[in-house]
Amino acid sequence: MIFRQLFDLESSSWTYLVAARAGGEALIIDPVIGLTDMYVELLGQLDLELALAIDTHTHADHITALGGLRERTGCELVMGEFTQASCVTRRVRDGEIIACDGLRLEAIYTPGHTDESFSFRLADRVFTGDVLLYRGTGRTDFQGGDAHKSWDSIVNKLFRLPDDTLVYAGHDYKGWTVSTIGEEKRFNPRLAGRTQAGYVELMNNLHLPRPTMMDVAVPANLVCGTGKTP
Ligand code: FE
Repeated sequence: MIFRQLFDLESSSWTYLVAARAGGEALIIDPVIGLTDMYVELLGQLDLELALAIDTHTHADHITALGGLRERTGCELVMGEFTQASCVTRRVRDGEIIACDGLRLEAIYTPGHTDESFSFRLADRVFTGDVLLYRGTGRTDFQGGDAHKSWDSIVNKLFRLPDDTLVYAGHDYKGWTVSTIGEEKRFNPRLAGRTQAGYVELMNNLHLPRPTMMDVAVPANLVCGTGKTP
């Protein structure tokens, strides 16, 4: 398997490029608009054709590269079924399998950070978007976010995956690149040893500033970053 992690320094976002083999089809998860040229160049260098560009949710802190990648490669644009993004070409449901040249990606509905967030499991790993971060969890105070649902998605869905499942999150601000489900169960300071009520209390009192990009990024992402009006 070809697996690349690409980091956007501006928004501290992780993007993942995955393919079963050189010469085959690839998928990309949570690409960032400013790095579109780099993704296209890397796809060429690795002899890959981009089949699917996937966003885990409607991002508030960066503009997606989905639209740009479709213009450049003709790839399908995939999001969960509850997205408001008008430009998505394939909407997936909880439990649906997305096939890509031998890869099987399972869509898992994990609301909480937003009400339309999905995670995607692929073999020994899971891409959690912003619902579960490395030793942290995604904020739950806008875009239909809900701390109860965040707990439910993490504890009752993601934490039921095998403990050695690799966790690849949508962001990191501390320099982390990977974790596992078992580690996050034991050491995630927002979750370990807490009750659901305690988690909700914590999340509802974070008082985080509004993301500076939010007013620009959310409308832009509803048209997949193409600049076209919906
Ligand atoms: Fe997010």
